[in-house]
Amino acid sequence: MDIPRIHTIRESEHRIHNPFTPTKLARLGEVLRLTPGTTALDLGSGSGEMLCTWARDHGLTGTGVDLSPLFTQQARARAVELGVADRVRFIHGDAAGYVSSDGPVDLAACVGATWIGGGVAGTVELLAKSLRPGGIMLIGEPFWHRTPPDQQTAELCDATSPSDFLLLPELLAGFGDLGYDVVQMVLADQDSWDRYQAGHWFTMRTWLDTHPDDEMFAEVRAELSADPARYAQYTREYVGWGVFALRQR
Ligand code: SAH
Repeated sequence: MDIPRIHTIRESEHRIHNPFTPTKLARLGEVLRLTPGTTALDLGSGSGEMLCTWARDHGLTGTGVDLSPLFTQQARARAVELGVADRVRFIHGDAAGYVSSDGPVDLAACVGATWIGGGVAGTVELLAKSLRPGGIMLIGEPFWHRTPPDQQTAELCDATSPSDFLLLPELLAGFGDLGYDVVQMVLADQDSWDRYQAGHWFTMRTWLDTHPDDEMFAEVRAELSADPARYAQYTREYVGWGVFALRQR
């Protein structure tokens, strides 16, 4: 079980696989008012930076589930590096339908991987099965700064269609429609987007230099040539991203 290889090629050096900087991830941990011993489940935990740093900074304990063997292995190594391997564990597997095996947790998260539950509503429903009453749910999700005028523009923003995402007010109101209060949010900004996206370019260039005979060379070469200008014209202008903390009404 693995994710498409192109993601691994682009993001092997990313600790955070989203348009968030370490500062923003730390800010999110602070504003959630976490107390030592808080239990967490993270679906699509990537390289584990959220659970590992919050275990270090806030005494959280938790489990992450991710489909990428590489990211899962990096998450386990990060836990050892930060001295929190006794507090966090990372499971390699499909998180679709995953419910906490240790009983309800205080914090249930899916940050930038809501396809796991078939979209925001399905992911909220899935996470709710692992969350204790009164617990906090975290959803990381893109939104439109402005709606793309047509299908082609949406695709150039890495979406499949303009209906993939909502405007921020619509996304926030939608959480209410699902029966949840939004109690915190931390949003990406252009610098945190640039760190995420430009990190791909650096990693892809290094990969190209060291994989001249790889079957994916031409694809990665073409992407690196086109992506900076595409990103500046489209994703950077149209796509927002944030993590939203929810509590059931
Ligand atoms: N939350 C992490 C990773 C976000 S990127 C962070 O913010 O850094 C999306 C992640 O979802 C990737 O790590 C990818 O491997 C994982 N993923 C994709 N499909 C998945 C699935 N069906 N089950 C579990 N993880 C999945």
